[in-house]
Amino acid sequence: MVEDGPCTVCGEVAPAGSASVCHSCGEPFHLNERNDTEGKDCGAVWIDEQYQALRFGCQRCLDQGQQTQKPEPRVREPRVGPRRYRRRDV
Ligand SMILES: [Zn+2]
Ligand SMILES: [Zn+2]
Repeated sequence: MVEDGPCTVCGEVAPAGSASVCHSCGEPFHLNERNDTEGKDCGAVWIDEQYQALRFGCQRCLDQGQQTQKPEPRVREPRVGPRRYRRRDV
């Protein structure tokens, strides 16, 4: 299931049914899964031969993958706030 949300590529709302979630960045993007209907594609879907599984990628991540030529899945870095250490100099 895909929730309605702004497409990470073009910013327009991607309605459920014509959108997918990128496996790299986890953001929704337009993906027309039916060939018999006109739809927007802001990414691609392909078969990962290593895992024999469908992979979804938004155009932004695809572009980045082309630059490095190494389509490694990106791991989202957790947002870490400023750490507050209290040094105990006793
Ligand atoms: Zn889009
Ligand atoms: Zn992505």
